[in-house]
Amino acid sequence: MPHSQVDIRQNVPLAPYTTFGIGGAARYFAEVHTEEELLEAVDFAREQELALFTLGGGSNLLVGDAGFDGLVLHIAIHDPTKITIDGDFAIHTVAAGVVWNDFVLSVCEEEISGIECLAGIPGSVGGTPVQNVGAYGQEVAETIVSVRALDLKRKAFADLSREDCGFAYRRSIFNSTERGRYIVTAVTFRFDMTMKPRLTYADLTKYFGDRQAAPLEVYHAVRAIRHGKGMLIVEGEADSRSAGSFFKNPVVEQEVLKRIASALKMDVDSVPHWPADAGRVKLPAAWLLEKAGFVKGFTMGHAGISSRHTLALINRGDAKAADIFALRDTIQAQVKAEFGIVLEQEPVQLGI
Ligand code: NAP
Repeated sequence: MPHSQVDIRQNVPLAPYTTFGIGGAARYFAEVHTEEELLEAVDFAREQELALFTLGGGSNLLVGDAGFDGLVLHIAIHDPTKITIDGDFAIHTVAAGVVWNDFVLSVCEEEISGIECLAGIPGSVGGTPVQNVGAYGQEVAETIVSVRALDLKRKAFADLSREDCGFAYRRSIFNSTERGRYIVTAVTFRFDMTMKPRLTYADLTKYFGDRQAAPLEVYHAVRAIRHGKGMLIVEGEADSRSAGSFFKNPVVEQEVLKRIASALKMDVDSVPHWPADAGRVKLPAAWLLEKAGFVKGFTMGHAGISSRHTLALINRGDAKAADIFALRDTIQAQVKAEFGIVLEQEPVQLGI
């Protein structure tokens, strides 16, 4: 095979690279450690006319049982973080392959606020801008200033500004308008060192009361809360074999909220919801699932719902992707029948 540095392997099972532990093999698989290796692997794919798929931490991914008939690029770029200080601001440029939680911890240990609510989110730094990862009222778009990526269209590296990235709720150009065009190699964050953690979500205000908490305390609290909900990847825990939240929280018109309240003979105020853009409301998908009869611990063959979080579908052991798809389809059909809402799958799907 005409490649000099980058190691390109064949028929590599993908299941071990995903937190779900599900899925077939990749026809070709390259682990890239540098931007040069990335270019080489992309050249190989072009020469062989192979489809490309970029794999980071594999934590938001469901691989189909037939695997992938192309080249999977596993981004393992781990260059040391570059830190510069500009007045009250700390600027960190972090390689895409760095484990996200390791980076969060290092920032919190510096007593810097900005990403402490995002502790315990699995995956790598490079994956975070793609879906503008967020939790407990904080999202990466608030601190990202630029994203470095290989632009496959131009075959050149580009430094995209925050505006270029088009961030919105769980969305960026990388998972919407420009899906498949860029491969993230590094992310630059800018932290205001005068900022203190802002705790707005009930889980956290309950934990700390009125007390002002330090970033590292919030880091540990968020990990404990996530652990309690089975949302922390812990080796050997059955509820960890998942891709986190399986459905997005739907954003709907006020009319839909009223319709749900009346169908359930409830006051509108008793139906949990939060304001979203354009006068719409965000509904918790987990609540809809429970009202439709899909509760924690629900099982269907080898697939199931986490015993600690309604929104996480799990591999109960030896599940095939087909088992997860069957459970997903059953839930979607029931929620649609009861509430007229089509729940959208959150994890990226590779193959069928
Ligand atoms: P949760 O805290 O029980 O919240 C469930 C839903 O209620 C979410 O839609 C959340 O909005 C909303 N919500 C709760 N309190 C709110 C408030 N004070 N203001 C506005 N909206 C509020 O959710 P969870 O499942 O245990 O997850 C904890 C956090 O992790 C949530 O923020 C969730 O979105 C986040 N998460 C993110 C990802 C991801 O980025 N892919 C994956 C899994 C979980 P938000 O979704 O806007 O927070």
